[in-house]
Amino acid sequence: MSMFKLKALLDRIYESELPDLNDLEQALSLKNQVELDKLFSFADSVRKEFCGDGIILRGIIEFSNFCDKECFYCGLNKNNRKLSRYRMNQEELIKSVKYLASCNVKTVVLQSGEDQALDALWLADIISQIKSRFDLVVTLSVGERSMQDYRVWKESGADRYLLKIETSDKDLYSSMHPQMDFNQRLDCLDALGKLGYQVGTGNIIGLPGQSLKNIAKDIIFFKQGDFDMIGIGPFIPHGDSQFSGEKKGDATLTLKTIALTRILTRNAHIPATTALGSLDKDYRLDGLKCGANVLMPNFTPPPFRKLYQIYPGKRCVDESVGVCNFCMDGVAKSLGRFIDYSKAHSFKQKKEISHV
Ligand code: SAH
Repeated sequence: MSMFKLKALLDRIYESELPDLNDLEQALSLKNQVELDKLFSFADSVRKEFCGDGIILRGIIEFSNFCDKECFYCGLNKNNRKLSRYRMNQEELIKSVKYLASCNVKTVVLQSGEDQALDALWLADIISQIKSRFDLVVTLSVGERSMQDYRVWKESGADRYLLKIETSDKDLYSSMHPQMDFNQRLDCLDALGKLGYQVGTGNIIGLPGQSLKNIAKDIIFFKQGDFDMIGIGPFIPHGDSQFSGEKKGDATLTLKTIALTRILTRNAHIPATTALGSLDKDYRLDGLKCGANVLMPNFTPPPFRKLYQIYPGKRCVDESVGVCNFCMDGVAKSLGRFIDYSKAHSFKQKKEISHV
């Protein structure tokens, strides 16, 4: 494609309220390095204009790997009997949160498998304790739950919620999520927004059977939903999952998706995901150079960390806790940017909080 045509394509995507699917597909199929550089630097300038140079930190604690679901890509799937399961107790969890806060990180992401045995009031109590003892923002990522649970957690002080749609194509979604309902996931995202959470979603790039058109539609889904946060990571096959032996997701395609999502959504928070750092090399730096503005250092204590095996080869599983955080400064400096140690709430216009 001539540089003139490429510039026109990127301008069209940037300026349109809802871009043409073919335009997005065309941009997703760019291959030539000069063209890719153009796409990535366009996205980087949109990031700079709408999000600034701060790299935001979200510390993650993976507090339980129990899961009732059978997602074909995930190592935590309930049929994986080889994995020893753990659930951190309150004391362990609060200790990890305390450490995270001492590192000057202002957001704690509490993540687990979809564990129906997870007692909503137990988690509500943890949230209240965190909010009363530390000056922290609490993000939850514990999957699909009832409106009632989401409400209890919100009332206990939870601020944000991450629930990736994984793929916005209903048929593709059904093909890899037995016993799950695409519409229910959409309903959960909707309920979370209505309850006043800052809501994050996202997808996986390179899922078996996924086409470029599917990814283009995901990007449109992100735009239409006006999400506060969007996590985009490559598929990494896990040996003890249904998709064992499948091809892993392509790093460049993941970067292209990040770039186009940035160009379209402008000010959503987009992490350079841990999965992006866990391919043949660490592509998180590349992610930060093509639209991403968030890093998620891992604060799960080491004995548990290697058991939170959603995919193999996860970056930094063998490092001691907090080392991640330390290395973030080096990453930021190497890019001529800085670590933003503020709470860094959503850049989106504060939504009206409805009490449902
Ligand atoms: N149970 C929670 C989140 C736990 S896993 C929930 O359902 O929201 C967090 C994310 O890991 C998932 O949303 C998924 O996008 C990602 N993931 C799981 N298995 C993966 C794999 N094999 N490769 C890449 N990402 C994966």
